[in-house]
Amino acid sequence: MRDTLFEVTCKQCGRSLARVERIRDPEIAILEDHLRACGEPLGEAPLLGEVMGRVRVASVERARSSVR
Ligand SMILES: [Zn+2]
Repeated sequence: MRDTLFEVTCKQCGRSLARVERIRDPEIAILEDHLRACGEPLGEAPLLGEVMGRVRVASVERARSSVR
């Protein structure tokens, strides 16, 4: 089991959108859904780069993930 997770945060509103081991299609879909509802509209089939350009990805340690 890996100790590191990726936390994805919306650049526009600062909300944490996902905390996952790997960012895959289901996570991308969540990000797209949020980005459509938050700020500037996203195209029907946005490129991965467009989606990732609007979020911030940070690695967090699993054991400390609830402590800041
Ligand atoms: Zn947002």
